[in-house]
Amino acid sequence: MVNKDVPGRTNERGYLRIATEEAFAPASLLDLYLKHARDPGLDDPGFKSLWGFYAASPSPRARFIIEGLKDLGEKRLRDMDATGIAHQVIALTAPGVQVFEPALATRLAIDANDMLADAVKAHPTRYTGMVAIAPQDPANAVKEMERGIRKLGFKAVILNGHTRGEYHDDPKFWSLFEAAEALNVPIYLHPNAPPKQMIQPFLEAGLDGAVYGFGVDTGLHMLRIICAGVFDRFPKLQFIIGHAGEALPYWLYRLDYMHAATLKSNRYPFMKQLSHPISHYLRNNIYITNSGVAWQPAIQFCQSVIGPERVMYAMDYPYQYVPEEVRFCDEMTIPDEHKKMFFQTNAERVFKLNTATL
Ligand code: CA
Repeated sequence: MVNKDVPGRTNERGYLRIATEEAFAPASLLDLYLKHARDPGLDDPGFKSLWGFYAASPSPRARFIIEGLKDLGEKRLRDMDATGIAHQVIALTAPGVQVFEPALATRLAIDANDMLADAVKAHPTRYTGMVAIAPQDPANAVKEMERGIRKLGFKAVILNGHTRGEYHDDPKFWSLFEAAEALNVPIYLHPNAPPKQMIQPFLEAGLDGAVYGFGVDTGLHMLRIICAGVFDRFPKLQFIIGHAGEALPYWLYRLDYMHAATLKSNRYPFMKQLSHPISHYLRNNIYITNSGVAWQPAIQFCQSVIGPERVMYAMDYPYQYVPEEVRFCDEMTIPDEHKKMFFQTNAERVFKLNTATL
């Protein structure tokens, strides 16, 4: 039953708007972030810079983000209604619990998942959850994935970038991929600040955050997972990446050509011959959201390169709450059929949403 009293749920344009990369954080976790960022022994300049600022700054942008992250109730629903968002797919904000020592991280992931599950239960027609994990302890992360999907009813896994400087193409993390494939849920690879071994030139120019550093690190991370052969080993596994594909669609021709050329040259003896060119994995194992990129040329390019059935809408709430951006996306001059796939039906399929209740 569509509730016609709620803005965005009247389907007046022929589609519902489902936002697929929306963030939250328990207040207690944000307190821990600030404590962690101020720890003089912490050797993680990206985390220090990012959360040292956002968790403490009095700037209106920082305060709006912090208040938005903490709220899973009236404020969030009001902001959704004001912008015509029918449904949010919500994940624990970056870097999740991935910066802490394994035992603490595992506990914090359970707490965050319980909190999100309560909110989904309270607002089942408005929210869907992704399960947060602590990859530092892969065995317990798999258990938490199973609990999140089977018991809490979540529909995806959130992986917030590298874990303490380690990328997840390392085989020690492959049990997570095996579990996601078996559970038949996608993994959302969300950005994190670049790790200490990469971040210095970004920090020097103030370009380490969402402006550029996030995209560079996440694109690299996704490519490392592809090039390690993860999708040859787990061919049904699906990933989701945001921000119009972290620039990978734009690079696709060159990635295919140069990956093949590098292999042929035997420059890196460890480099794997994959079953397919890199573009194949983008078109068969990866979904893209436009989070933070309300720009028709980029969205349309992604649709044309990897297929309109693989590109989904995301607002990136509360980091990029810009009501006009919803209108930009509504007014895109693309076929109505592709617009409905973008806003609604791709997300319904990927997250197995119960459309009758939206
Ligand atoms: Ca985000």
